[in-house]
Amino acid sequence: MIKKSLLEIKRDLAEKKVSSVEVTKAVLAQIEKKSDLGAYVTVCADEAVAAAEEADRQIAAGVDKPLLGVPVAVKDNICTEGIRTTCASRFLENYIPPYDAFVVKKLKDAGAVIVGKANMDEFAMGSSSEYSAFKTVKNAVDDTRVPGGSSGGSACAVASYQAYMALGSDTGGSIRQPASFNGVVGLKPTYSAVSRYGLIAFASSLDQIGPMTRTVDDCKYVYDIIKGYDKNDSTSYSGNLDLGEKFTSLKGRRIGVAKEFFPSALSPEIKAAVEKAIAFYKDNGAEIVETEIKSFDMALACYYILSSAEATSNLSRYDGIKYGRRAEGCKNLQEIYYKSRTEFFGPEVKRRIMLGNFVLSSGYYDAFYLKASKVRTLIKKDFDEALSKCDALICPTAPTTAYKLGQKITDPVEAYLGDIFTVPVNIAGLPGLSLRCGTDSDGLPIGMQLIGKAYCEETLFSLARIYESAKEAK
Ligand code: GLN
Repeated sequence: MIKKSLLEIKRDLAEKKVSSVEVTKAVLAQIEKKSDLGAYVTVCADEAVAAAEEADRQIAAGVDKPLLGVPVAVKDNICTEGIRTTCASRFLENYIPPYDAFVVKKLKDAGAVIVGKANMDEFAMGSSSEYSAFKTVKNAVDDTRVPGGSSGGSACAVASYQAYMALGSDTGGSIRQPASFNGVVGLKPTYSAVSRYGLIAFASSLDQIGPMTRTVDDCKYVYDIIKGYDKNDSTSYSGNLDLGEKFTSLKGRRIGVAKEFFPSALSPEIKAAVEKAIAFYKDNGAEIVETEIKSFDMALACYYILSSAEATSNLSRYDGIKYGRRAEGCKNLQEIYYKSRTEFFGPEVKRRIMLGNFVLSSGYYDAFYLKASKVRTLIKKDFDEALSKCDALICPTAPTTAYKLGQKITDPVEAYLGDIFTVPVNIAGLPGLSLRCGTDSDGLPIGMQLIGKAYCEETLFSLARIYESAKEAK
């Protein structure tokens, strides 16, 4: 396996130091070797080798494209034409999309070689990737632990060199938290910056696709390829997506910290690591600004109400008739619905459907859904206010490092609490980037999160890059 960053391998390919077929075969061999980690639902070896051969032909002919010949992975809730897209659900076990998602088209246009579809929590609901209907994903650093979720397969694949980049999706933390658990970089872009066309919906007002990579520069590189307006996504933004700033010095930069980011339940090791990163920024010239997000502690409840309500509605299409598989031996319409949904949805998805129906039901709608919608506005306002005083906010990505497999499976609320730092960012529609900032006493990666203003991803990349290169220099 060629242990290089995406940009390094891209350069080697362009300079013909190595061929795409060689690189792709090496990645496929690594996937085989690491198959116990469960990172992939589907490995498309034949298609990948064929795409690599085509890339090599193009490279020989002098063609240059941003990802020409580079092996990448795509989360299994993002549609790939002709390649099974299951959402890690029994319901879509045999679903082969007739079209590519916008982002997949972008990757293919850029010459990327898709090696497989990354495993995940069913329908992206979960934080540990243990809710895949097919197999559990394991952490790339310690295989007795969870990789985080729901993009656990994507994070694991990148961290264990089973791809040079993987796309994930993030509704409430599903890119950033697994990135933090596996020690890689993950970006949840500003809502509407990356098209959701072809992303199988969980909660449409929160879902975003983003890159997971080993370095900050790789992350930016891929983000620039997949972002952009798409007429097929009604929420896609047609304005300027580049409002951020590129800089290499921290002089004059302001980084916001809020006391809400350090609750008493936070692991002391994580607190210390993030504080050390804050000290790094300060020592290197940035000004640390005290801010507050008063509504911070309402975000988790707000998120689980809104996301479940939207999920209930989005998942109603899986009825055994219009979408997905149908249970056998049904005598009437009612039975088709009932049996198909009972047999093919897993426990966490059922929990969200019940939660969502409850908060939307007559008599509870005002108390839950409507109230949460108002809280959403409040959270957005608090973030806008805090960010008006600084370039970015910094906080932990998750309150713990990767926990043991099985540890939270019997206590879903405990798992929901782990999303405390990530869900507010989706609610506010802002960009969030997770980056490794340390290691705990068990040798597990600790992640920090940089939160920026809308369409200011470049500012986050600049801040992250300065930190990353200083750590590398050590
Ligand atoms: N862990 C969160 C949830 O289960 C976030 C999931 C996601 O971002 N897709 O809802």
